[in-house]
Amino acid sequence: MEELLERLLEECRPFASQGQVANYIPELAKGDPQALGVYVTGSEGKHSWAGDCRRLFTIQSIVKPILLLQALLDNGPEFVLNRVGVEATGKPFDAINAGDQSLDSGNINPMVNMGAIVMCSLIHGRSYEERFQRLLDLTRRLAGDGEIGIDGAVYRSEKSHGSKNRALAYLLKSHGLLEDGVEEVLDCYFRACSIQMDCRALAHIGAVLANRGRLPVSNERIFPAPMSRYVNAILMTCGMYDGSGEFALRVGVPAKSGVGGGIMAVVPTRMGIGIFGPALDGKGNSVAGIKLLERLSGELFLSIF
Ligand code: GLU
Repeated sequence: MEELLERLLEECRPFASQGQVANYIPELAKGDPQALGVYVTGSEGKHSWAGDCRRLFTIQSIVKPILLLQALLDNGPEFVLNRVGVEATGKPFDAINAGDQSLDSGNINPMVNMGAIVMCSLIHGRSYEERFQRLLDLTRRLAGDGEIGIDGAVYRSEKSHGSKNRALAYLLKSHGLLEDGVEEVLDCYFRACSIQMDCRALAHIGAVLANRGRLPVSNERIFPAPMSRYVNAILMTCGMYDGSGEFALRVGVPAKSGVGGGIMAVVPTRMGIGIFGPALDGKGNSVAGIKLLERLSGELFLSIF
């Protein structure tokens, strides 16, 4: 496996030059466009890796499935489904998911910003500080890494360049879809996007989703099995922004990308995969990372279709 990953990594690294590091938030523009790393964690706990897999990066949108898990754990599926729908938007992460007049919970999706902002408000806690801390604790347990924290510089940069997210949050509020104060909810969202980890931690989270809620090796249960079906189904249809259909064809497994260059892929019952490659395509997905996943999927017959 290690040899295969090394070979694919070298084959795919040149594709990074076709992409660009995200620059709509100044701090993200400092990413290294040539970096590429992959980490695979099997359901039974076997690890393999290649390249820049121990570099830290902010998970950005990859926090969305974790937010969804926390919202499901705190409120149950029926409650969450009534507030954040599951239909694919086929639109970019920061799109307005409906015409201004027709916005309702059915056209908000948990894998794009509007849905993620609502999910921050669904997490239980007496304060937003406590809500974020609970999300961070869940992230650490899923990732098997108790040291995970946030990148303060990215958080501050997100917060001071967050006009579009503020617009989305006010729109949600004006439609009665967000009860709490815009700034406190967004602060939680910006901090969530700024959580940083490496490919190994990302692969571990993927392995728990692949394992239907149990940690690899110890088998400790983190969330009930039906929740992995809920989250993985949405990852399959909406995890790669408006590139989800093509990704389903080329790779064929549930996955979530983030504009920091990460991709977390879930191969149900088999493995979790963590990718880091900050050079992004026009839709915000890692160019070399998708190539690598496509080739790995071909070699190991990972597609679920
Ligand atoms: N922090 C980002 C934003 O909301 C997340 C974007 C992403 O990774 O899709 O602008």
